[in-house]
Amino acid sequence: TQPSVAFLGLGHMGGPMAANLVKAGYEVTGYDPVAAAQEQAHKDGLTVADTAIAAVADVDVVITMLPNGKLVLDLYDEILAAAKPSTLFIDSSTIDVADAKAAAERAHAAGHRAVDAPVSGGVAGAAAGTLAFMVGGSEADFASAHPLLDVMGAKVVHCGGSGVGQAAKICNNMILGISMIAVSEAFVLGEKLGLTNQALFDVASNASGQCWSLTSYCPVPGPLPASPANNDYQPGFAAALMDKDLGLASNALRANGVEDGLGLRAAEIYHRFNTEGNGGLDFSAIVNDIRTRSEG
Ligand code: NAD
Repeated sequence: TQPSVAFLGLGHMGGPMAANLVKAGYEVTGYDPVAAAQEQAHKDGLTVADTAIAAVADVDVVITMLPNGKLVLDLYDEILAAAKPSTLFIDSSTIDVADAKAAAERAHAAGHRAVDAPVSGGVAGAAAGTLAFMVGGSEADFASAHPLLDVMGAKVVHCGGSGVGQAAKICNNMILGISMIAVSEAFVLGEKLGLTNQALFDVASNASGQCWSLTSYCPVPGPLPASPANNDYQPGFAAALMDKDLGLASNALRANGVEDGLGLRAAEIYHRFNTEGNGGLDFSAIVNDIRTRSEG
């Protein structure tokens, strides 16, 4: 028989992820303090619990999808004692590597099993069940989590021990943030040097400057009709989320003595962009910020 599931945090991501588990035949009890999320969960066929403790009391697996690490740790402190022995805790929130390790330690200390399983793929991937999961935890716990993650995602990778799934997520997104800034700076420099965006794209996309930020997500309109640049920079991947993920990368860079590099600089650039009111734009809109700052 399929394991029973409690799903805590039914927001933009967690709501559709939980709905996909129900569609696949899992019995899912949901909890979220927000009334709108509860109503949607009810429509999606979840059993809606009044409290997090009530949701986890009699299930085999607890999945969390929360905004940040403090909320995950606080919630674990609230619910770990209420869960059955050996419950499998899967945290899919994007949080600090250190918080992910602490969450797994607390779950283990309470007699449970735990993996961190952050995702990429965004709200569209959550709805379509095509997320990519990066998983940290033991072989055995990964094996237990795998069938559920397969329902919600298209790609599931076991990256290593506790916290290493989060490590994979922030390392990847750090590459993405840095490379988007690099590509954007090159377009703005090219413009100043009399090089058209199309000509730079045609050269770099076939040369050693080739990268995903250029050839799959080009930050200037024209060369790639499907990129957010052609749609007023509607996300896509919102700059606020890039700001968050680079903040987590910065924490890990500092905590591990990887200092003074492009990761910290990229985090500053996206943090400023976000706090100046651009968080709702796609992260490739950074090209316009660079161009504006280069005027005069
Ligand atoms: P969201 O704010 O839409 O949803 C979070 C939900 O958690 C909210 O509904 C909130 O009410 C609920 N919540 C807060 N405290 C709770 C508690 N104690 N118990 C139960 N529920 C609680 O955020 P989201 O966009 O769904 O993102 C969730 C996580 O996924 C974040 O860590 C984010 O970084 C990550 N993520 C998001 C995206 C994306 O595109 N949105 C992509 C990849 C990863």
